Amino acid sequence: MDFSSKLLEQAVAEMSQLPGVGKRTALRLVLHLLKQPADQTTQLSEALVNLRTKIKLCNNCHNISDTELCEICSNKNRIREIVCVVEDIRDVMAIENTSQYRGLYHVLGGKISPMDGIGPSQLTIKSLIEKVKVGEIEEIIFALSSTLEGDTTNFYIFKQLGGLKVKTSTIARGISVGDELEYADEVTLGRSITNRIPFEGSLKN
Ligand SMILES: [Zn+2]
Repeated sequence: MDFSSKLLEQAVAEMSQLPGVGKRTALRLVLHLLKQPADQTTQLSEALVNLRTKIKLCNNCHNISDTELCEICSNKNRIREIVCVVEDIRDVMAIENTSQYRGLYHVLGGKISPMDGIGPSQLTIKSLIEKVKVGEIEEIIFALSSTLEGDTTNFYIFKQLGGLKVKTSTIARGISVGDELEYADEVTLGRSITNRIPFEGSLKN
C-alpha cells in the first residue's frame, strides 16, 4: 500500500495489528475515524489508554475489575461457599447472563495446553488451591469448555484438590463437546449450572 501520508500509514499499521483486521479493513476504519468529529477519536484513544493503565485483576477471583475486589466478590448477597471455575471473563459474563448462579467465580486465565506452551503455573490454579485450603469453600464447580484442554485442566485441579474437604461438581452439558461456554444459549447454560453433577461421576463417561 502506498500512502500519501506517514501519519495515515502509521495509524493503519497500528490498527492492522488487531486480530481479524487486515490492511484494507484498517484503512477503512482509519478513514472512518477521520470523517467523524475529532472528540470521538479522542474518546476512543482515552478509553484504550484507561483500559491498559487503570484496569486491575480482582484480588480474590482474578476477574478483570476496576477495583481491588470486583463487584461480584464484594457483593454481600453472593454465596461465598460456592466457587465456579472458569477460563476467562467471557465465561463469567455468559454465566451471569443466565441469572441462575449466586456463587463466586475463580478465573483461571486460560486452560492447560502443552501445545500452546501453557502449563499450570501460568494459570491461577495455585491461588484456587490456597483458597480451598482456608476451608471456607464448600463446593467447586468446574465450568470449562469440554475440549481436551478443558478436561485436562479440570482433572489437574481435581487431583490438586485431593485430600481437601471440598465438594466438586461439573456443569451438566446440554451442549455438545467442543462448544465454547460463551456461545451456549442462556437457557441451556442456566439449566446446566442448576443441574450440575458430581465431578467424579462425569469422569466415568
Ligand atoms: Zn472478584
